[in-house]
Amino acid sequence: MIRLVLFDIDGTLVHTGGAGVKAFARALASEFGIQDGTGQVKFGGRTDVSLVREIFRNEGIEASPENFARFFAAYVSCLREIIVGCKGGACRGVLPFHDDLAARPQPPLLGLLTGNIQQGARIKLERFQLWEKFPFGAFADDHEERDQIAAIALQRGSRRLGGPLRGDEVLVIGDTPLDIRCGRSIGAKVLAVATGGAPLEELRAHQPDWAVADLSQVSAAEVLDGA
Ligand SMILES: [Mg+2]
Repeated sequence: MIRLVLFDIDGTLVHTGGAGVKAFARALASEFGIQDGTGQVKFGGRTDVSLVREIFRNEGIEASPENFARFFAAYVSCLREIIVGCKGGACRGVLPFHDDLAARPQPPLLGLLTGNIQQGARIKLERFQLWEKFPFGAFADDHEERDQIAAIALQRGSRRLGGPLRGDEVLVIGDTPLDIRCGRSIGAKVLAVATGGAPLEELRAHQPDWAVADLSQVSAAEVLDGA
């Protein structure tokens, strides 16, 4: 039985109309004078810190703590501006699926497992009234590598639930092959959703426990009880 459910954010919980990528580009331009710094980089399933490191490398900028801090301060302020007018929303099926989980006789603990830095995650989710639905999470501030972020999310969830969890008591929900891999890295079950751009067939090829077009296609009972 699943006791902890960890959600990815972009393409899984919300669409932000590319607000994150736009905020990245604007921050790179304003702070470092880089034009089109995001053009060469693939964002899906990545962590913010690893993306910045890759862009710094491409552009010959020193990956110093000062430069990371400078970038992220600008990114957060750009994201705050851009998110207001973004065309986006909760991904299809998210709200009913959340309510379905919360209405269980013994609802699982819900958390975030994301490559966003925490402030970015908060800005994106608050825009669509979703932030307060997740009492905890693990973020790119916690670690640069997604599999390590998953391990930290598992630790924090276990602590909240009062003891260690077995892998089959944890469910990771995400929209990319990288989410499937990071769920497997902590021994969790994985539900893949094709709401983020990766086609259902591609997700299926990575053998998640479930793969659905969107969260309206699956019930809490199905995934929690393994029925
Ligand atoms: Mg995603």
